[in-house]
Amino acid sequence: MTKVLINEQLVEEHDANVPYNDRGYTFGDGIYEYVRVYNNKLFTAKPHFERLLRSAKEIGLELNYTVNGLIDLVQELIVANKIINGGVYIQVTRGAAPRDHAFPTPSVKANIMGFTKSYDRPYKSLDEGINAITTEDIRWLRCDIKSLNLLGNVLAKEYAVKYNAQEAIQHRGEQVTEGSSSNAYAIKDGAIYTHPINNLILNGITRQVIKEIAEQNNIPFKEEAFTVDFLKNADEVIVSSTSIEVMPVVNLNGEAIGNGKVGPITRKLQEGFTHYIENESAVPLEAER
Ligand SMILES: *Cc1c(COP(=O)(O)O)cnc(C)c1O
Repeated sequence: MTKVLINEQLVEEHDANVPYNDRGYTFGDGIYEYVRVYNNKLFTAKPHFERLLRSAKEIGLELNYTVNGLIDLVQELIVANKIINGGVYIQVTRGAAPRDHAFPTPSVKANIMGFTKSYDRPYKSLDEGINAITTEDIRWLRCDIKSLNLLGNVLAKEYAVKYNAQEAIQHRGEQVTEGSSSNAYAIKDGAIYTHPINNLILNGITRQVIKEIAEQNNIPFKEEAFTVDFLKNADEVIVSSTSIEVMPVVNLNGEAIGNGKVGPITRKLQEGFTHYIENESAVPLEAER
């Protein structure tokens, strides 16, 4: 039987109910994380839960947990559901209260919910690449927070699906920001370009791993905004996230990127990523040093 985490309890799926007036439900007033499980082990758990605590802090949500406390909770869920390869989703809302935009006073207890999913690495698309489409970034100005408010992201992804693409790469005006649920990169003349970490993008953990791998391989990693035209004319394009890893984009808006094949720098990063999964401690993330 599949268990779901509700606050500190592991309950059966059909008993996993939340209050109708939970602020996550009425306002999207909450935050979340998605952590990968490889070989029965949480991947880059510490930076993920550090980011969750940061997101909580940025929206003024009081969460009385430590990184290790959260890891323990989620670990229990993974064991209970016997997840070998897959992922775990965890969200925290500001709690249940009569509907009023302002924070509840006195404050109410945050609600935590978590569930798991079992699946393999996306080998086929990692090998062949995916299609992407560009779309205007209509999201708010705090995209650095992994917030439950995902309507902009949802509409972007749906637009991609409509045009037979697997990801939408967003841009504000001419400047490329990120994918609907991934970070985006253009590779040109041997260097990797990606939007700098600020309020306009989510600071991806996979992005941090890619940066480390690039540095190890002496591939320049330039955190500079670039234009949609630059993206279209890139030699290689990738998008990255916890679930899609280092994903090549071989076709953008119906046109081939480069020669339409997965390029050598992408392959190098993918090799490095597989190595990192097999031996996580090989490249300590900045947050873990
Ligand atoms: C989660 C997310 C990412 C990728 O972050 P990872 O930590 O690599 O999974 C990128 N962009 C958005 C908008 C996201 O929500």
